[in-house]
Amino acid sequence: MSGIYIHVPFCVVRCLYCDFYSTALPHLKDAWLRAAIREMELRRDYLGGDTVATIYIGGGTPSQLSAADLERLFSAVYRLFPVDSDAEITLEANPDDMTAAYVGSLRSLPINRISMGVQSFDEADLHLLGRRHNSRRARQAIGDCIRSGYDNISIDLIYGIPGQSLQGWEANLKEAAGLRIPHISAYHLTYEEGTRLHSMLEAGQVQAVDEDDSADMFDLLVDSLDGYEHYEISNFALPGRISRHNSSYWEEKKYLGIGPSAHSYNIETRSWNVASLSDYIEGINRGKPILETERPHYYNEYVMTALRTSRGIEVSRIAARFGEDTLSFILRQSESFIAAGMLEHKADRLVLTRKGIFVSDAVIRALFREDF
Ligand code: SF4
Repeated sequence: MSGIYIHVPFCVVRCLYCDFYSTALPHLKDAWLRAAIREMELRRDYLGGDTVATIYIGGGTPSQLSAADLERLFSAVYRLFPVDSDAEITLEANPDDMTAAYVGSLRSLPINRISMGVQSFDEADLHLLGRRHNSRRARQAIGDCIRSGYDNISIDLIYGIPGQSLQGWEANLKEAAGLRIPHISAYHLTYEEGTRLHSMLEAGQVQAVDEDDSADMFDLLVDSLDGYEHYEISNFALPGRISRHNSSYWEEKKYLGIGPSAHSYNIETRSWNVASLSDYIEGINRGKPILETERPHYYNEYVMTALRTSRGIEVSRIAARFGEDTLSFILRQSESFIAAGMLEHKADRLVLTRKGIFVSDAVIRALFREDF
């Protein structure tokens, strides 16, 4: 089983915190669509004939595509790849685009999961992040999706926003949980270099929340989503609603990434397309996708992906797949984190504790092997 990711690189406006690749050039939509279909044709053998179990249309803003555009994309996917009849098919959407009419127009397509960038139900937060929707629109969009029959909905939320109080974050979580949104992805705000928010931070126009408040917000997140499984550092799901597409990244399954900046993985190699729409289109038109390729660092990738999940690292797998010396290495490196209460060694698994999740990048880095 494998997955397909399609990157739709168009946004109406750039949110202040975002460093994903996208452009505000809607007139290139048709050229992008033709190139994306052509890329699927050129790379149809990449997944080795595996059945496609998940399709994820991400971005950018996929809800900037019309139902007719999406129909063209899907007919190419189904023509070129064997798609499982029970495939999870997700469309990322901006609440501003999800009017009742637009949501209704999607119903004839194979999409069965909607992932919406709500980010917050608070007007001040949305304004600071530079989002184009407001909280009323977010609520309406969720309601319209539910009324149209979508029962597999995910929303993204951001916490640690300058000016956001603990009470404000709690209100967001209460609202999401109260609506029984099946899947919630919650991320701490980061200040990525090159974003406007990063410049504002540097110029002292905004202040990052302090570490104690961040930790309290994370505690609130984990404690208040009652009935949700915290299955990955940033992801929470009601029973049966874990994102199969996300999970396939962590389970080392193959995926083909279509569109500028999209990443692909087929066990032997990992590659990523050029992050420029014009270069992407030019490469595809010449019949030569512009991409970079590297051989994966299996051990490091396993550590990084497994440790992000609630299942953690399978210790016996380390020995079986990477050898006894790697097993000794990881157990040795883990000792100080176990002693500090950041890692737990439970039965056959090394799992991040709540304290460890908060500093997960440092723990993961310490368990990496540079020589692999
Ligand atoms: S956060 Fe989403 S909508 Fe905003 S600029 Fe980034 S990709 Fe576009």
